[in-house]
Amino acid sequence: MIMSQQTRLQKILPFLACPHCQGDLKYEPSGLCCLACSNTYKIRNGKIYFCDHVGPHDDLNSFKGRLKKTLGKYYYSIGVDIIAPDYPFNFKKTLLRYVNPHEQIVVDIGCGNRRIHDDIICLDFTDYDEVDIVSDLQKLPFKKESVDAFVSRSVLEHVKKPWEIADKIAECTKKGGWGLHVIPFLYPFHASPDDFHRFTHHGVRELFGGWKTEEQRSVAGPISAFLAFFIEFLSIVFSFGSTRLRGYLYLVFCLMLFPFKFLDCLFLRFSSFMSISLMTLTVLQKKESIRENLD
Ligand SMILES: [Zn+2]
Repeated sequence: MIMSQQTRLQKILPFLACPHCQGDLKYEPSGLCCLACSNTYKIRNGKIYFCDHVGPHDDLNSFKGRLKKTLGKYYYSIGVDIIAPDYPFNFKKTLLRYVNPHEQIVVDIGCGNRRIHDDIICLDFTDYDEVDIVSDLQKLPFKKESVDAFVSRSVLEHVKKPWEIADKIAECTKKGGWGLHVIPFLYPFHASPDDFHRFTHHGVRELFGGWKTEEQRSVAGPISAFLAFFIEFLSIVFSFGSTRLRGYLYLVFCLMLFPFKFLDCLFLRFSSFMSISLMTLTVLQKKESIRENLD
């Protein structure tokens, strides 16, 4: 186990609770044991397994999963930030304006194989190299009001009941703590492994009702949205029904058209373009008191 991984686990242990009964967990070298319900959770290669690692659901998902595992950070730095139609934005810079992951507990839920900061706790249901906690997002294994901030990027559209996760996040976040969520709005269907929801910027605020919206803006704007749909359209038309060909064509059209996405920098500053945004960022703060929550 490398040092930083061990430090992260040591740091998070006091804040973990049994995902089944919220009971306290006792640390043993092989894993964690719930003092209330006696459930045990293994620790392997520096990762805590609160659920079994979930394998791929279909061919596309399995292909993407393999790419994420083999390419590691290049999947994101080249595949997502450069070639995909989404305008790239500096999430880490925004995050550091609100929290200090070195001193606070910051959890990235549905992190994939990408770590945005050395001290951030990475949680996903797939045990990628970068993951510290393998867990079902619906059953977050944290004590009440223990976490300083939860962050998520393009995750909440993939879960069946995002409102349940939002409630769980609210329960586990400290009063005055933060939530930073990047959520697609106008984005083509992308099942990896599943795709259930889209949220308008108002919808995100409703999802996190009772939180104070500190910042909300489009992080991939109208050009990215246009490109995402145009590339999807071209790949469907020219693949003549072949799923495999459609996948290759998607990549080819992305490679041909991605430079246009950088034009989005002209539009992102105007809030009126939120109405045709590809992706929005919402920064929320959990209110300090119950009284404020009733406002
Ligand atoms: Zn338990």
